[in-house]
Amino acid sequence: MQTYASWFKDFGDKHHQLSQRLLKQGLNQAEIIKYFRFENMVLNEPNFCELYKTNTKCHEMTVLNCYLCACPNFRFTSHPKAIDKKLIHSNCSITSKDGAIFEHENSVHQDCSRCQIPHKEDYIKKHFSTNWKEIMKACDSSEED
Ligand code: SF4
Repeated sequence: MQTYASWFKDFGDKHHQLSQRLLKQGLNQAEIIKYFRFENMVLNEPNFCELYKTNTKCHEMTVLNCYLCACPNFRFTSHPKAIDKKLIHSNCSITSKDGAIFEHENSVHQDCSRCQIPHKEDYIKKHFSTNWKEIMKACDSSEED
């Protein structure tokens, strides 16, 4: 099973390659953000996300943008702390009202399935960098634990 850390590394590398390619093609910030709209990505980058193969949106939004996929507010750790005998593997740093948790045996994970924050283009513009790992640098809190 892929860990949060390995997913972040693999996805960050993939994101970097695509961003660099778009920059070389001369796209500006607005054009790069537009390129990452779900419909365009399904058509032109079918291997970027598993869900593209079945044309399935991870969130039901009219304009779903995949630029951030993952969220700068998401926190995960490779060294989960035990609280009330449950291991906390991930959480939301802003405790979004649309976030939730799911539990499996004694493990607790953040559930972002109802939260659209990182897929909105206004939010992406506010946090934009072509360096995805820089935007997401606070997500891995393994070192703090
Ligand atoms: S609940 Fe929303 S804001 Fe919080 S980490 Fe998940 S997507 Fe981000």
